[in-house]
Amino acid sequence: MMTRFLPYTLILLLTLSLPVLANRFANVEINATPLADNLYMLTGSGGNMAALVTDSEVILIDAQFAELADKINARLVELSAGKALGTLINTHLHADHVNGNSALKPKRIIAHVNVLKRLSADESFPRSGLPGETFETQLSLNFNGQKVRLEYLPPSHTDGDIIVWFEGKNVVHMGDMMFEGRFLFIDLNNGGSVRGYIANVAYVLDQIDDKTIVVPGHGQLTDKAGLQRFHQMMVTTLAIVEQQQAKGLTNEQIVEAGLGAEWANWHWNFITEQRWINTLLQAEPLTL
Ligand SMILES: [Zn+2]
Repeated sequence: MMTRFLPYTLILLLTLSLPVLANRFANVEINATPLADNLYMLTGSGGNMAALVTDSEVILIDAQFAELADKINARLVELSAGKALGTLINTHLHADHVNGNSALKPKRIIAHVNVLKRLSADESFPRSGLPGETFETQLSLNFNGQKVRLEYLPPSHTDGDIIVWFEGKNVVHMGDMMFEGRFLFIDLNNGGSVRGYIANVAYVLDQIDDKTIVVPGHGQLTDKAGLQRFHQMMVTTLAIVEQQQAKGLTNEQIVEAGLGAEWANWHWNFITEQRWINTLLQAEPLTL
């Protein structure tokens, strides 16, 4: 989530040189929540992960941070009765989803082609952590009958986001196409789009039912109602900002006016209400 502010190199340097930051992983535990047969959500520090256990290997969605790699692998071994991490899938390029790529030592890494392009351009990113397999629109994988479908969604959080469908289990991992119960980050410097994001969430809502388990990139495990509420927040707050713009208010006045009490508790340390309003102010004009 943080690459907009700090280049990867700087994050790495800070992490290596400041004991306070290095130690921030010391007490992090990797917790597993069962979602369906052989499928778990894993939390630690960074984007929520998912692990699918098959007859022969473990498939992991997202990698969190290198400092957590040993703990993540230990949890995978425990969940799978000793099987090793085989396939790692990255939902997008942000450090809290890919920083552990190399340290986890998977057999292969899959991501959208734009993730490879952007990570390759970052010289500080370990080459062994680059995705070796990419795709453009869709990729179906079959692990001895357990099917996983990777679907690219058009520019929204970044220009390289995929969601992961666990076929037959009614579970979808949204990556950072969902921030549960909180304002979201749109990385406009990495191809993000406000209207694209809202449209993508509406698209996913059309594909799921009331029993679907929705794994967000950040926040608590949720469902269709949670995703609808998230969509409603984006649509409503964008409309508020557009109405203020139509009245001729300046950006400063719009930030000052705020979004009202209904959304006050969606504010968090990374995306404050002011920051979310500033993102909404950069929404592309509607083209008719
Ligand atoms: Zn992200």
